[in-house]
Amino acid sequence: MELNKLIRAHLRKFDEYVPGEQPSENDWIKLNANENPYPPISEIVEDIKKNTNEKLRLYPDPLAKELKTKIINKLLKKDNPPQNINSYFVGNGTDEVLEVIYKVFIEVGDDIVYLDPSYGMYKTLSDLFGANSIELKLNEDFSLPESIFKTKGKLLIICSPNNPTGKSFDNELILKICKNFFGIVIVDETYCDFTDKTAIPLLNKINNLIITRTFSKSFSLASLRVGYAISNPKIINIMNQVKLPYNVNYLSQIAAISCIDNMDKVFERNKKIISERERISKIIDEYENINVLPSDANFILVEFKDKSQAIKLFEEMKKFKILIRYFSKPSLEKYLRISIGTENENKKLLDSFKDIVKNFL
Ligand code: PMP
Repeated sequence: MELNKLIRAHLRKFDEYVPGEQPSENDWIKLNANENPYPPISEIVEDIKKNTNEKLRLYPDPLAKELKTKIINKLLKKDNPPQNINSYFVGNGTDEVLEVIYKVFIEVGDDIVYLDPSYGMYKTLSDLFGANSIELKLNEDFSLPESIFKTKGKLLIICSPNNPTGKSFDNELILKICKNFFGIVIVDETYCDFTDKTAIPLLNKINNLIITRTFSKSFSLASLRVGYAISNPKIINIMNQVKLPYNVNYLSQIAAISCIDNMDKVFERNKKIISERERISKIIDEYENINVLPSDANFILVEFKDKSQAIKLFEEMKKFKILIRYFSKPSLEKYLRISIGTENENKKLLDSFKDIVKNFL
């Protein structure tokens, strides 16, 4: 049988998402996937252990109600978030949250607008659903282009702070975009805990906005896969209807609740990542012909004179067992993205950087 003919037509030629490399040995310094360099704090690990019990035989709460209540009453309290639990959707990481949004809104041939450069999954999902990708080029300084106010489509995705540029966008701009766009606007706030900007205050001004967030980054919980969305109940309701019933497992829900119970400790520790980000940026930026872009996230984007220098530094770093991220797409070919590590990892990064610049660049 010709199996290829049975596959959905638009998937016969499909570029899958390529995640940051995960080396099998433990002796690598991994600064390529924007993971938190610190483990989950001990209280979270204790709560997971304490709840690893006979309850594992039961299905988890399909709507993660306890977690949503904590998100409203504690995690987001200072941002004055929507109080209705039906404004919240919890998913298996932000990636699943995004997929569920596509499932709700996207039909084959619909236009999906996102920016370039930005997170690669937007395009992968667009291809998966047979949608038409409209990539708007960010300005030279990675700010939003004027064309965003005129663009048309079913979905428009803005990542703020943007991965991989680290730049976040003001609410004034986001509000104007939402008002001009006759479709759904997603603001992906995966890295919002490393800045104080958030689009949450806009939720009561417009009804076409969905904000997505995660426990993967500041809470060090990437492996347990918990993300969430906030929007108006009409959108969230249909998202809950189309998701798989038990999309977020019991221990992940427990861990996310524990993250919120211990959030002051986590946020205190995040300050270290932010201060390291500033320290490293300043040091790397001092090299001639190398620029570090200001970042609101847990990574920095470094600009080199040309593509060959970026690739050389990337390759040489590997010889020091340090993994950073090179993206071959044209808008990023002379850049490298470096996630912020522990103080010790950052020291090794900076020492290696110095060595490579001296010998090769
Ligand atoms: N959005 C952006 C911008 C990201 O960088 C990532 C993770 N790399 C995600 C979403 C996915 O996050 P999660 O781990 O919550 O699926």
